[in-house]
Amino acid sequence: MGKLNCVGHGDKTQRGKERKRKRYAYYHQGHEICKGAFMLLHGVSKKYVKNIVAHMNENGNVPRVHKNKNKRPANAFSFDELKHALNYIMHYAEEVGLPQPMVRGKGNPVVFLPSSGSKSDLHKQYVASCEEAGIRHLGLTSFKLLWKDCCPHIKFMSPMSDMCPKCEEHRDAISKAVGMEQKQEAVRLFSEHLTIVQKEREVYNKSVDDARVEMTDYVRPAGVIPPCSATLTKVHYTMDFSQAVSVPHHARQEGPLYFLVPRKLQLFGIAVEGIFRQFNYVIDEDQTIGENGVISMLHHCLQQNGFGEEECIIHCDNCAGENKNRYVLGYLSWRTLIGLHKKITLSMQVPYHGRCLVDAGFGHIKRLYRRTDVDSLSSMINAVDKSAKSNVPVGYENPRNGEHNWEWYDWKTYLSTHFSPLPGIRKYRHFTFNVQSPGLYIEHIVKFFLFHTLL
Ligand SMILES: [Zn+2]
Repeated sequence: MGKLNCVGHGDKTQRGKERKRKRYAYYHQGHEICKGAFMLLHGVSKKYVKNIVAHMNENGNVPRVHKNKNKRPANAFSFDELKHALNYIMHYAEEVGLPQPMVRGKGNPVVFLPSSGSKSDLHKQYVASCEEAGIRHLGLTSFKLLWKDCCPHIKFMSPMSDMCPKCEEHRDAISKAVGMEQKQEAVRLFSEHLTIVQKEREVYNKSVDDARVEMTDYVRPAGVIPPCSATLTKVHYTMDFSQAVSVPHHARQEGPLYFLVPRKLQLFGIAVEGIFRQFNYVIDEDQTIGENGVISMLHHCLQQNGFGEEECIIHCDNCAGENKNRYVLGYLSWRTLIGLHKKITLSMQVPYHGRCLVDAGFGHIKRLYRRTDVDSLSSMINAVDKSAKSNVPVGYENPRNGEHNWEWYDWKTYLSTHFSPLPGIRKYRHFTFNVQSPGLYIEHIVKFFLFHTLL
């Protein structure tokens, strides 16, 4: 290859002065060539050769190092500016995000942000807040890079994971709107829907926080606690059904499936957020579910695992078949009427936007279930027990004495004779039962509806 050689008569001239211009000879494969040929062969310009020569004159035969190496550019963001942007993302996720179950050894749990937003939308809000505070803000690309590097566990939910028919309707209306006015109206309706979703979420989060604060130093005495014997007023329960799990289930299924119709087990979870516990009722497929089942299990949980509290808040999903019906309302009203509670609030989030902490408990169970061999109801109960410290399994039969842990009462028949249905129940999302004003008080709508009661 090419070679650059300093030729001449040393550093001093014949007159003994310092030699200022050194002569270089250019070589290619051992043959001396001219400078022009050297430049042509290496595809370099005159300036490039001049710079190399200057470098060799100054430093000798050592590799050249770019002067900007290990230097931060003058306009780079400072640590505080980056931290500010990161804090903005983290706080936003804390406020509106839905944390998923923690996986041990896998870093931070994933936090889902509502699919209605996007990184660029959040960036716009961030820029506005920076301008207000007079802080230099990151550009969109740096903002996205920082997000990817420092908090990849915060993600926007894909539209598929919270498919809400109303949201879809509004999106459709916006895209099909003709003219400015129609478009603005469609956008207004959509943002109204999202505001309601946000408010309901805030109500849920606040109830959970209040319950946790109230029970910070609370130690529950063992056994069943008599009703209304404790002064707790912010106890919070969340209840929900999980998707059915099938048994037998093998982590490594070999050969063709020969269990053509697997047995389905239902999971019904009641999370008590104040004490970080979730009671999971494991129900066989021949057991009853629906209104009677939900009320029987809720009754068992409140009686056995309650705190003897005076007031409580219950969150559930909007399903009319299981939770939002006259029988559940009747049951809660019955509790206040006979003195088991002084006040009960039953609340629901907006349908399809109601992710709650019970789902996190189910997530733990599903994760263990996928990699465990489950052959029977009792091994499913074991799996629930092992899945997380907060998960407590409740089986129908007690394995020690064969007795039933709870009974399936016919609440439906009993309650239908005492409580009449509530017209237009679908419209409401908050119901309060208070011993001081027996009956039902529907929040926000300011409307009383007295149950026809024979008690
Ligand atoms: Zn929606």
